[in-house]
Amino acid sequence: VDRQQEFVLRTIEERDVRFVRLWFTDVVGSLKSVALAPAEVEGAFEEGLGFDGSSIEGLSRIYESDMLLQPDPSTFQILPWRGQVEPTSRMFCDILTPDGTPSPADSRQVLKRQLAQAADMGFTCYTHPEVEFYLLESDELDAAGNPIPVDHGGYFDHVTGGVAQDFRRKAVTMLEAVGISVEFSHHENGPGQNEIDLRYADALQTADNIMTFRTVVKEVALQQGIYATFMPKPFSEHAGSGMHTHFSLFEGDTNAFFEAGNEYQLSQTARQFIAGILHHAPEFTAITNQFVNSYKRLWGGGEAPSHLAWGHNNRSALVRVPLYKPNKGQSARIEYRGIDSAANPYLAYSVLLGAGLKGIQEGYELPEAAEDDVWSLSNAERRALGHNPLPGSLHDAIRVMEDSELVAEVLGEQVFDSFLRNKRDEWSAYRQNVSPFEINRYLGIL
Ligand code: GLU
Ligand code: MG
Ligand code: MG
Repeated sequence: VDRQQEFVLRTIEERDVRFVRLWFTDVVGSLKSVALAPAEVEGAFEEGLGFDGSSIEGLSRIYESDMLLQPDPSTFQILPWRGQVEPTSRMFCDILTPDGTPSPADSRQVLKRQLAQAADMGFTCYTHPEVEFYLLESDELDAAGNPIPVDHGGYFDHVTGGVAQDFRRKAVTMLEAVGISVEFSHHENGPGQNEIDLRYADALQTADNIMTFRTVVKEVALQQGIYATFMPKPFSEHAGSGMHTHFSLFEGDTNAFFEAGNEYQLSQTARQFIAGILHHAPEFTAITNQFVNSYKRLWGGGEAPSHLAWGHNNRSALVRVPLYKPNKGQSARIEYRGIDSAANPYLAYSVLLGAGLKGIQEGYELPEAAEDDVWSLSNAERRALGHNPLPGSLHDAIRVMEDSELVAEVLGEQVFDSFLRNKRDEWSAYRQNVSPFEINRYLGIL
């Protein structure tokens, strides 16, 4: 038992913890949880906790179904929404095969491997996400079949007496109680749409934080009698929910993206990192935008990016270099605006980081920054400027990903295959479905 494990065991004792939930994530980013009696925790540290991996999406094949959960003591937290008396706590887990080696099918392991590669190149990777989501009256629909938002506010609106303010206050307090620092929270563009921006942390911690964040937001909403959704595009006519993520690489204490005097103060490393992301974005879009519905966001307006472009403070660009104050070189970073709020954060951050690092290793050239609003250009103008489109549907995205050496390498064979299998199934279910759109459009005239 090491020191962190000892601390956990002592806290369980002192706080009279009643349950310890072990958390992990399946290949599409759903949170999985098993509650452990406190007396079992020491054994779980020593030997792991056995479970049937074949029942979890993408985890193992039926003939090698025995897997182990190894709790990570550095992630121990009391879960405040379960009350303070005889509280419930949680730890994120690594998934091991029966011989005790890390499972190649574990998303968290995929990200750890990518971060180790960054470390080999001398880099630590920090990320911070801006998570958008909708607050709805409930998970039920109105007579026309649409979700019902809790208000009709817009960007930065202060909605008097609105449930959203109360909600944000409770959610931010709850997040801080589980050790997640929040930088901003505000009403977003769509009715009932909100955004909460988390403070930067190393990429693994951020991915863990996103998993916790989604649970906290859903719990707080339930407590207030409303419903929170991270669905990428719940309303055809309103903006979708993105999870823009800011990335920076540090070499020791120095921000490797900053170079005073360069264009936009971007170092060569930053330029190559952006070039890597732009070059490989179509290949990894199935990961960052993993649902049929994700493509309704990317191609449905509402400030979502749909073409390959980067720019300084340009919101139509897929990669944006934010403005920062002079003498704030340490905050140099790039923002990826493609990813949505329903992505598996471990896999999405792995492919983004993998693409950026590839750009650095291979010395990719960065094309010219986009000065214009990429949305308002014609197709011919975009083509001339090299602003090629992102995949137009999950089907297109799967096709490009299937041929990607980079994505196969970053995910490893097992995750690559099981992810694609899951997504082909989703596409084929969608393809067979006759939707209300088709009935409305065709039945009366054909
Ligand atoms: N909701 C927009 C999106 O889908 C982003 C709006 C913003 O710039 O924050 O990406
Ligand atoms: Mg936003
Ligand atoms: Mg943003």
